[in-house]
Amino acid sequence: MSANSNAQRLVVVPDAEEFDSELRASSTTTSETVVCSYCFGTGMEVMTGKGARRCQCRTRDVQAKLLEAASIPRRYSECMLSNYQPAKNNGSQLRGFNYAYRLLREYPEIDHGLLFMGTVGVGKTHLSVAILRGLIEKGVSCLFYEFGALLKEIQGSYDSLSQTSELKVLAPVFEAEVLVLDELGASKTTDWVRDTMMQIIGMRYNERKLTIFTTNYFDERHSERDEALEDRIGVRLRSRLYEMCRTVVLEGEDFRRTFHDAL
Ligand code: ADP
Repeated sequence: MSANSNAQRLVVVPDAEEFDSELRASSTTTSETVVCSYCFGTGMEVMTGKGARRCQCRTRDVQAKLLEAASIPRRYSECMLSNYQPAKNNGSQLRGFNYAYRLLREYPEIDHGLLFMGTVGVGKTHLSVAILRGLIEKGVSCLFYEFGALLKEIQGSYDSLSQTSELKVLAPVFEAEVLVLDELGASKTTDWVRDTMMQIIGMRYNERKLTIFTTNYFDERHSERDEALEDRIGVRLRSRLYEMCRTVVLEGEDFRRTFHDAL
């Protein structure tokens, strides 16, 4: 290919939707590598009269890596704001959607995470994952953990000799710019569970890192036998969450059940 024809192809910047199919069709394949036909592997794309910008092939690579690192469970891999449908006449779900939308729009100018409270199947995890996916598109490093699974991993990595848990489990939890902790309060409460929760959340609190929680427990007890969130996680931790997050109560039917009944 001549230098001239290269220059001609460099200035063509299709819109994002066309990009995928065009890239596939026009990439130059050698026996070992696929070379992007827009940046020719340089990572910079030349825009007529505007200079150069990071090539879309690099942006997509970064997003793919961030998505993998976020460990979103496959079951939730398709959860986005665009496919979250607040139930009819359900103000709480509409509010939940709006909070999620606003967080995405305003990030990083945000100083509170979210605590989604509600019974099973009202879309708490869906909205949390949708936020992560939106942030990943902005290039933010995110991580999803079901709280019980995290506690098990920490326990599993505990070394009785050094009396410490492996940093490799905890480091990503501390370092992620935005963390989702799903199902707060679901684990059986022992002193160790409370201390560990306090340590993880306290660390993120001290570093002012954004954390999004979901829980099936509420602040009010509706009967004497009811357990409130504070009973499950302790008064100190609940108090810390008031500072870290806006509480968003989602009401409604179990979406899975409604969906199943409609079949
Ligand atoms: P929760 O975390 O509150 O228990 P989930 O977010 O896990 O509930 O929702 C259960 C399933 O229902 C998921 O597959 C989720 O994608 C879907 N879902 C829940 N609410 C909605 C909604 N409003 N619009 C679209 N899908 C929803």
